[in-house]
Amino acid sequence: MEEKTIISFANVAAAYDNATEVLTDVSFNISSGAFYFLSGASGAGKTTLLRLIYQLHKPLRGQIKLFGKNTAELTRDDIAMLRHRMAIVFQEYSLLSHMTVFDNVALPLRVRGIAEAKVKKLVAKVLDWVGLGKFADVKPMELSGGQQQRVSVARAIIVQPSILLADEPTGNLDDENASRLMELFIQMNKLFGTTIILATHNTKLMETYKFPVIHVENHRVGFVGKSSATVPEAKKVWKGPTPKNYFTELSKQFDEIGNA
Ligand code: ADP
Repeated sequence: MEEKTIISFANVAAAYDNATEVLTDVSFNISSGAFYFLSGASGAGKTTLLRLIYQLHKPLRGQIKLFGKNTAELTRDDIAMLRHRMAIVFQEYSLLSHMTVFDNVALPLRVRGIAEAKVKKLVAKVLDWVGLGKFADVKPMELSGGQQQRVSVARAIIVQPSILLADEPTGNLDDENASRLMELFIQMNKLFGTTIILATHNTKLMETYKFPVIHVENHRVGFVGKSSATVPEAKKVWKGPTPKNYFTELSKQFDEIGNA
């Protein structure tokens, strides 16, 4: 796996309304294909860090580079393009309640103008991958929390992002659903090489999966564990069909879209 830096922070500070700095002097490099936990007490600045990466918040000082580009020098259009290469999963699922599961997952493809026949194929594959193939036509509210979160993961993976940012994605889930979700993220990381930063304060999750940890405390960021693009083996919690075939097929579809 290539070891290219995909996210780079140099002496970054962040604040809201020029009040107290939430983050101060934050510097780190994240390699393409890495998987990190982002930990810290509530209010420490985890969401702020993710917002800085996703370009929803501008740094007060310092430099943020994404895919090797200095974000301060980018136009609005450039930033929109960068965002197309990233996806976010939130604690609250953030699905559109008036739309079916299928339409929720299809949305990012439709806004990118992908032909409907391809949308149908891809959404079916991804829903199978998250184990929700049978629920395409129902509304999110008819699903359990764990299922709704898997819909939001399907919606995130459908555009094959290079970077996935997850903000307390297991916060509302029981242990079994949290494990299942983690398994999906690990597959995404391993099979697609997606760089993942997953904010959590679930210590059990961090003990189980042992990914390196970016820890936010006292407005600063530290690292715990080996910073590495190598991801530990997934704990065998997934009982469904192997996703490998879906992913191979999915990759082909994306190649076709890319070449269209
Ligand atoms: P975490 O995700 O670790 O819980 P946040 O990044 O959400 O932390 O918040 C860090 C700090 O920034 C907190 O003190 C919070 O109150 C403050 N904060 C977050 N969002 C805003 C906002 N929109 N306006 C003002 N302050 C904010």
